Amino acid sequence: MGCFHHDDYISLTLEFRCNLKCVHCMIEGTMDYLQPQTGEVFDEVLQEQSQNGRWKGIILTGSEITLHKELIPMVQRARAAGFEHVRIQTHGMHLGQTSFADKLLEAGVDEYFVSVAGSDRESHDRITEVDGAFEKMMAGLAYLDRFDHVSIITNTVVTKLSYPLLPDLVKSLSHLRQLKQMEFWNYWPMTEMDDKDLIPRAADVLPYLTGAAKSAIADGRSVEIKNFPECMLGDLSHLLDNDQPQLLIDPAFWDQFNRNGFHQCLYREECTSDQCLGLNEAYTAKYGWEKNLVHPVRGGRLIARS
Ligand code: SF4
Repeated sequence: MGCFHHDDYISLTLEFRCNLKCVHCMIEGTMDYLQPQTGEVFDEVLQEQSQNGRWKGIILTGSEITLHKELIPMVQRARAAGFEHVRIQTHGMHLGQTSFADKLLEAGVDEYFVSVAGSDRESHDRITEVDGAFEKMMAGLAYLDRFDHVSIITNTVVTKLSYPLLPDLVKSLSHLRQLKQMEFWNYWPMTEMDDKDLIPRAADVLPYLTGAAKSAIADGRSVEIKNFPECMLGDLSHLLDNDQPQLLIDPAFWDQFNRNGFHQCLYREECTSDQCLGLNEAYTAKYGWEKNLVHPVRGGRLIARS
């Protein structure tokens, strides 16, 4: 499981533009109409933090937060309001400009949640559909890795395109000292059908996902897995963590999100897992209910969560 506690953080979506075109983008159909959180909402969060010190950290996110023109002053204000940690969620391309990275560091961003789509230049640039994205991101990670107070977290969306790359992806980041946590998010399409044919079969993903997770743990990272059947993870079931920090986002997002139709499982009623999302509607439409693969967890998790 992860080394960051979701309850310690509040997350705000503040920017809905992006300059990558990841094939797996889960919000590409909503970016045009979702509204970022307003300055008033941001002020209210800062006021709450100043008065009550409710959270340890704030997460500034959106499609690509580094495109937000006010990012640096927002970070400075968050620090001044008493946030111990300021995290940005980013594709990492702009971190390769050291002058920009220095501004983020000086303003007080100490946690960098970076999306790593592939294991090398060819695969990452193919999946993000922008040439040079991998080299810029890797340059940014290498630069941030020099700073002892920085935490790097990576996030990889697991699709038909990326799942065979997972073990090599972990290896490609093995040199990073400050990489604290790796997250693997099994793809969900935000619709009832897998229109882009990106959902992989869970049985095909399993050996790559568990192999990658074990390698990451051997490298000293925490690992979080999202949206994978808990019962298939065996002795790694404790890595499944579908919780998230409190998220402030346009309510219209949830209409789209709910189209996923999670919790499709023949055994949902008898299964005692409190984390598993089962399968989603697009998965069962494509591959069926996997009744011979999944099995109910009884009496709690296979491995107690620490
Ligand atoms: S039986 Fe279903 S709900 Fe239970 S862990 Fe397996 S997939 Fe998840």
